[in-house]
Amino acid sequence: MRRAASLFFGLFLLPMPALSADLPRDFVTAQSGVFTQGGMVVLDLRDGVSVRLNGETLPQVGARTVLGFGRDAKLAQRLEFSNAGKSQTVAVKLTPRQYNIQRIDGLPPAMVTPPDDAWPRIIAQGKLKRAARAIASTQSGFSQGFVWPTRGRITGVYGSQRFYNGEARRPHFGIDIAAPRGTAVTAPASGTVTLAEPDMYFEGGLVFIDHGLSVTSAYMHLDSLQVKVGDKVKRGDVIATVGSTGRSTGPHLDWRMFWRGARIDPALLVDGSPNK
Ligand SMILES: [Zn+2]
Repeated sequence: MRRAASLFFGLFLLPMPALSADLPRDFVTAQSGVFTQGGMVVLDLRDGVSVRLNGETLPQVGARTVLGFGRDAKLAQRLEFSNAGKSQTVAVKLTPRQYNIQRIDGLPPAMVTPPDDAWPRIIAQGKLKRAARAIASTQSGFSQGFVWPTRGRITGVYGSQRFYNGEARRPHFGIDIAAPRGTAVTAPASGTVTLAEPDMYFEGGLVFIDHGLSVTSAYMHLDSLQVKVGDKVKRGDVIATVGSTGRSTGPHLDWRMFWRGARIDPALLVDGSPNK
């Protein structure tokens, strides 16, 4: 109940869309999260219920499952619930988001358009990241509720169309929290470290945590890493410190969330603001 109350409170503080899905109580007992572009939703199911999202069966931990929607996910989504020969299809309409434009100037040119000789490294690192994100364990950290991984001022939000030194690049998929170099970064929920690389081309120091059922969190531009691949972490454990490594113009944490290939807005998973 505490969680539900704080989510309700959050509606008045953040531009969070209201819940839009009317889920059948014969199949679902509880829901947390928001059906919106960039949203992630955890469902508690009755015994024996299976769920398909747009035709694809969702794995479960116990009677719980999770689903998410990317920045530009189509608004019409289809959920099918079934149990012992009974089934029901629900058309879910996601709440659309609007994204702003953010300009970042003063970056070294090689960070905007990498030189030819940087590409083998960038490609190899891309493979590392995809392999780590493909890990689909049956941990349940995804469902315990997330907390801010550090404290500071928000300097970048999810979804912004980005221009680096005036050149259009991919949207920003994380939330940027400015904090002094060396500030602790803690796990926002429990999980297992699946990537811990000190020197990625764009991300600098980078850590991934697997929270189960293909929910992965990422922490970028880290100064020091305090975990290694395979480490189990609990919510609140220190995993790294804030830095300005990789494509960064000052010390900050860029926190990202993934569900499968979908990039989730971390700000929708936590209450309030990360300000001290
Ligand atoms: Zn960022």
